[in-house]
Amino acid sequence: MKNAITKLDNYHILGARSVKHSLSIMGDRFCNTPVVDSNVMCAVDEITNVQRIDLHGCTVMPALFDTHTHGAVGVDYTTSSGEQIEDMLPYYTAHGITSILATIMTQDVDIMCRQLDTCAQLMGNNRTVKGIHLEGPFLSAQYKGAMEEQYLQPISINLFDRLFNASKGYIKQITIAPELVNAPQLTRYATDLGITVSLGHTGATVEQAQLCVDEGAKCVTHMYNAMDKCFDKGKLLDYYINNDELYCELICDGQHIPPPTLNRIAHSKCQFKTILVSDSIMASGVPYGTYSIAGQTVTVSEKGVFLANGKRAGSNSNNFANLLMYCQYTDTLLQDAIKCATINPAQMLGYEQLGSLSEGYYADFIVIDNQYNLLATYQNGVCVYKSI
Ligand SMILES: [Zn+2]
Repeated sequence: MKNAITKLDNYHILGARSVKHSLSIMGDRFCNTPVVDSNVMCAVDEITNVQRIDLHGCTVMPALFDTHTHGAVGVDYTTSSGEQIEDMLPYYTAHGITSILATIMTQDVDIMCRQLDTCAQLMGNNRTVKGIHLEGPFLSAQYKGAMEEQYLQPISINLFDRLFNASKGYIKQITIAPELVNAPQLTRYATDLGITVSLGHTGATVEQAQLCVDEGAKCVTHMYNAMDKCFDKGKLLDYYINNDELYCELICDGQHIPPPTLNRIAHSKCQFKTILVSDSIMASGVPYGTYSIAGQTVTVSEKGVFLANGKRAGSNSNNFANLLMYCQYTDTLLQDAIKCATINPAQMLGYEQLGSLSEGYYADFIVIDNQYNLLATYQNGVCVYKSI
């Protein structure tokens, strides 16, 4: 069997786990191959050719995974067509993101089912959408955030089944409020289907949250937002921060969490269990102004995205910008923070070959300069974005 190898030259590595030789790509995966001149020695018998990409001393790091994004540039997973969504996906790779969970917010159940079906049909047609994150409809009315109260639902396994079937099994994460009746039962049921149950939009007690954790819940949806913000011992926030079994999403757009608070959280919460998300809505990547999300009017300004009632409604950020802000506000090196937007979400969701520059992993990586500008994005070994 003949094989072609692409070998990266003249670069620095950020976030590598075990690159021993040089960074090379065979097909859509990284392969570690000792290279002597242009002769490549590896397990396969024959190599037809070796292509070289000179990265001019720039830095390579794994491409990002955003597990909580509702859309961008005018497109919304909760309302838009499959065609509109596919046209929008290059927005992510232009920001260094090669994997996302299309996040559907709480809406009329028929609309949710229609959009779950729409997103399910995208699977396999593109390499960016890895699955679906369902944010609701089993959430607390008190902490509903931007969700419309009329669409919140009591927990019902039958309703969950209807939603899961509409997604053709592509729901990979669901956000539920643990204080709702039957939350532990739904947690066990969804966990057994391989879904990551994430606790959020909640006014639960620690005991109620613990019951769901006991049944398999392993994440907290945008921790600190849409929940009680008290750090006292025995409170939910303190429990989440100190539970090293629980992953926690953080929206690091400089607005959802005040920077001093973010700094406090970052230095308390285990970094291997921290997941940076954008919670971006369709107003991400568009000029400031007034827009509509799932029938609700929102205003986008330098302060973020707000509903007419003054409530914050997701963000207009992207996860690459958020990663850099996390580093800035928490005084963390990029090489340490990078895992929070790459391998941590991949491992939580069970994508074992995503999020690292190691051998056998998908060749999803980005190239940045020493000012942290994104120069190029590679997905499955193919350049899908170049800044110039
Ligand atoms: Zn959200």
